[in-house]
Amino acid sequence: MDNYHIDTKCIQSGYQPMNGDARVLPIYQSTTFQYDSSEHVGKLFDLKEEGFFYTRLANPTVDCVERKIADLEGGIGAMCTSSGQAASMVAILNLCSSGDHMISTSTIYGGTVNLFAVTLARMGIECTFVDPDAPIDELQKEVKDNTKLVFAETIANPSLVITDIEKLAKFAHSNGLPLFVDNTFATPINCRPIDFGADIVIHSTSKYMDGHAVALGGVIVDSGNFNWDNGKFPGLSTPDESYHGMVYTRDCGKAAFITKARVQLMRDMGMAPSPNNAFLLNIGLETLHLRMERHCSNALKVAKYLEKNNNVAWVNFPELEGNKYYDLAKKYLPNGTCGVISFGVKGGRQAAMKFMDSLKLASIVVHVADARTGVLHPASTTHRQLSDKQLIDCGITPDMVRMSIGIENVDDIIADIEQALNRI
Ligand SMILES: *Cc1c(COP(=O)(O)O)cnc(C)c1O
Repeated sequence: MDNYHIDTKCIQSGYQPMNGDARVLPIYQSTTFQYDSSEHVGKLFDLKEEGFFYTRLANPTVDCVERKIADLEGGIGAMCTSSGQAASMVAILNLCSSGDHMISTSTIYGGTVNLFAVTLARMGIECTFVDPDAPIDELQKEVKDNTKLVFAETIANPSLVITDIEKLAKFAHSNGLPLFVDNTFATPINCRPIDFGADIVIHSTSKYMDGHAVALGGVIVDSGNFNWDNGKFPGLSTPDESYHGMVYTRDCGKAAFITKARVQLMRDMGMAPSPNNAFLLNIGLETLHLRMERHCSNALKVAKYLEKNNNVAWVNFPELEGNKYYDLAKKYLPNGTCGVISFGVKGGRQAAMKFMDSLKLASIVVHVADARTGVLHPASTTHRQLSDKQLIDCGITPDMVRMSIGIENVDDIIADIEQALNRI
């Protein structure tokens, strides 16, 4: 679908039915696939022929969704996983093993911080967290002989820091390292990190891609651009004894990374998505371009409204003039950033909680990035074990409300916010 616009790809890419086939991507709710000869199945195992044999490794419904997402991101291949967390973990483990090191920006999703700082550390993989705004010469000090990759988020959840992807790509590549970018909040509609030098793109599809908060999922997209045969990645460039001596860089060419992730890690760890969830994800993707437009225009209007409201102490939204990340947002996300805003309510913790409890249309949810407007008070929920001092140290103030603006009529969203602010 190379010649089409991204809007068209959202709808048409991935599944091209043949004469008489179902027009809509069918759900292949089958773990297993049958063949006429053992020889044929042998060839499938050897990757000498394309086909499906077991849904843990590949499934026709999931396969079409993977093709669509790879096309949207401008990658050469993709692999869906059961959640965004699984996607990050598999992507890292595809390069790192015990004794290795990685570098990540510090402003990433809390669940990913925990994965890198605690769970991967327990497996012997060390992560150094860096300031995303640090200049390259500062970053360079953190590179070690055993460093394998650099990780960042296009738009950080929830701080809304915009990453200078080109800077990080330049830094990573000058050290022979790939850049991994979690593009969950931006989606390929607003930013395609591969166009700016990212090598591997990761998503929690549970957010805007699904868009309706119905199916947990994740995806890893391979740009096919990184040269893994530079001596730093023996797992890709030397024989894999667990896959009868396959050398991924030799035998799979540009698809080395994504093939290894599937035939080695998905095979062994099995965090595969269900075909039914892939079907739901595909329906979400069909309207992604329309929904992102509305999420972004609604969020900008709400942010501008909040900026002028006397009950609001501060507003963080990268598209507001004066925001620290305004220029990076205009460069990397010229059509809009995302629908998530954070702001402070005058009166601190109590006022913020009173505001949230007074909302009628917006609901209190932990989730972000779906069709319905939702709010969360980080200080009393996701970060409630921290003292007020600790909260401020990690950038979360007691007055902070995180609001994920949905695709309802923006006047109704603003009216709801107004009546709730008036009740403080
Ligand atoms: C939610 C989220 C994740 C984790 O995804 P799950 O699908 O919840 O496992 C990872 N990264 C970002 C940026 C997220 O917002």
